[in-house]
Amino acid sequence: MVSDYKRGLLLMFANYHTHTYRCHHANGTEREYIEKAIASGIKILGFSDHVPYYFPKGFYSSFRMKFEEVQGYIETLQNLRNEYIKDIQIFIGFECEYYPDYFEQTIKKLSEYEYDYLILGQHFIENEISCIASGSPTKDENILQIYVDQTIEAMKTRKFTYFAHPDIINYTGNLDTYTKHMKRLCMCANELDIPLEINFLGISDRRNYPCDKFFSIASEVGNKIIFGCDAHNSFAIGDSATLSEAEKFAERHKLNVIDKLLNNFD
Ligand SMILES: [Zn+2]
Ligand SMILES: [Zn+2]
Repeated sequence: MVSDYKRGLLLMFANYHTHTYRCHHANGTEREYIEKAIASGIKILGFSDHVPYYFPKGFYSSFRMKFEEVQGYIETLQNLRNEYIKDIQIFIGFECEYYPDYFEQTIKKLSEYEYDYLILGQHFIENEISCIASGSPTKDENILQIYVDQTIEAMKTRKFTYFAHPDIINYTGNLDTYTKHMKRLCMCANELDIPLEINFLGISDRRNYPCDKFFSIASEVGNKIIFGCDAHNSFAIGDSATLSEAEKFAERHKLNVIDKLLNNFD
């Protein structure tokens, strides 16, 4: 089904990138985000809080829920989905890194729960234990290459519905090298029909993403692009100033922005 929503009205049709207090660095309950979304005219709201990860014993990741907390997250959203069924469509998901050593076990454990989708958000290079944050500035081509290889491998697992802030990698070396690698990422996403996100938190927080050099490649490749609030508080939902900047950014790069994901995660 194709939406009849017209872009450029400073309204968002769908947002699939929403966090909650459960990840320890966002504020607000699920209900607060849902009510803000309805008030803002959003028709589809997807929750994608930071996924619990299966790490070796003794390693603690501070910015995600624990596996024991997943059931509460899902039950809360299932109840709210029914309660608000007339006003908004709600999907249940997670934002998830691809850490090759621990991904399979993570997915296996997650399969015990009824969730709809995963978005890829690669916050660290290799594994989180290495502590190389993707957003730290680097001139090292090797880091860029690992990021691209790793996220291509991630997309090829077919587990991810879309790719959040694909341009989080903060390579500050020369443009040709950047383009050589990031083009591989864009081509792969295009082949596998995985939309790339323009990340609103990056815009409002003035981060290194969304970045022009990346989206000019995505424009040339013809990638599908999707807007994502990456909301860590309910005010980020329906934030028209950021949406307006995102619209201008997309227009400037002549991007193919889609309003919603076409499948219903089946
Ligand atoms: Zn977060
Ligand atoms: Zn996020």
